Amino acid sequence: MKKDPVCNMEVDENSAIAAECDGVIHYFCSEGCKERFLKEKTCKIPRTSYDLIIIGGGPAGLTAAVYAVTLRMNAFLITRDLGGQAVDSTKIENYMGYDFITGPELIDKFQYQLIHSNYIDHVMTEVEKIKPAEGGFNVTTSELKKYFAKTLLVATGMTRRRLKVPGEETFQRKGVFYGNIQDMSFVYGEEVAVIGGGNSALQMVENLNNVAKKISLISTSKFTADAVVVERVSKLGNVAMFEGYNVVELVGDITLSGVSIRKVATENTVKIPAKGVFIAIGLQPNTALISHLIDLNDRGEIIINSDCSTSHAGIFAAGDVTNAFGKRIVIASGEGAKAALAARHYILKQKRKNL
Ligand SMILES: Cc1cc2nc3c(=O)[nH]c(=O)nc-3n(C[C@H](O)[C@H](O)[C@H](O)COP(=O)(O)OP(=O)(O)OC[C@H]3O[C@@H](n4cnc5c(N)ncnc54)[C@H](O)[C@@H]3O)c2cc1C
Repeated sequence: MKKDPVCNMEVDENSAIAAECDGVIHYFCSEGCKERFLKEKTCKIPRTSYDLIIIGGGPAGLTAAVYAVTLRMNAFLITRDLGGQAVDSTKIENYMGYDFITGPELIDKFQYQLIHSNYIDHVMTEVEKIKPAEGGFNVTTSELKKYFAKTLLVATGMTRRRLKVPGEETFQRKGVFYGNIQDMSFVYGEEVAVIGGGNSALQMVENLNNVAKKISLISTSKFTADAVVVERVSKLGNVAMFEGYNVVELVGDITLSGVSIRKVATENTVKIPAKGVFIAIGLQPNTALISHLIDLNDRGEIIINSDCSTSHAGIFAAGDVTNAFGKRIVIASGEGAKAALAARHYILKQKRKNL
């Protein structure tokens, strides 16, 4: 694999777009990145100033980006990854146009649309700081690169909650995982535990069913997943269900070997052997970046108006990071489209004001 020198995306050198420059071959994710590279090489000034910066490349950010391009906006996308949470969905049965599609397949289609059909300037990295500036905002990435935009569209989604018990940090990726499908190969033929009682925990159990030898499903309270899913999981022959148990500790030596659990309101502890533990106890909105600038609700979500504007003029937000009802791909995508339209409206209004 090679890295696109413009956007940092990993590309396969056999299928990537190549260009030779000063005797060196470079590989690009798209014609757009190749053109940008050659242009910046000639004029020697990298582009850092935009009308709109979209932060986050999940369904909300990617849809906003496609809209921004079709609206011919001067826009830039900064994201840690392409796809966000949707990549972890093994079966999507509720996205229009597809009876059934996996998360990775849907995101491949989004990505193609974004960088081939509707190219947008983009970079794969993390935004670390946002600071208001004259006429807009300064955005700093983890490589300390600085960009300026008149408006921001925050689509940073959610990340999985930590269990916060001893052993969780020690065995990160040495047995402790948070439900990514790719991590399942680590526990092939082994005993595993899944922590959580909601839909994503029980979906995880169903996914592990043909991979792991035995699965212990542990939940502090009653299972809250849809009744049909609980029914299906309870019929699986290799699943032991521990309803009403707290996780006390994740134990092991170099890698994880087990989970210590305690029956709620008793001293009864049980140690369950597990080579891997998958923690699926909910998600929290990624707002740390922006919480100093805009209003959040008591769940930590960005409060948005019906046009995705926030309490700070020029900052728009969309998707799971907001208080919009319904955490779904189709909803995040719709909100991303709406936020891009609203940001364009705002920019045009500002331009008219400044005439
Ligand atoms: C296991 C699982 C299964 C699911 N199944 C379904 C399903 O079947 N159907 C359905 O409709 N929905 C499903 N969902 C929910 C759906 O995936 C989410 O509602 C949707 O992905 C939200 O999109 P988003 O763009 O708002 O946020 P996210 O998908 O969370 O994307 C956020 C993006 O922001 C980026 N980001 C965050 N912080 C920064 C930063 N500081 N700098 C740069 N980038 C940043 C992230 O890397 C990511 O790319 C599922 C979720 C999970 C976890």
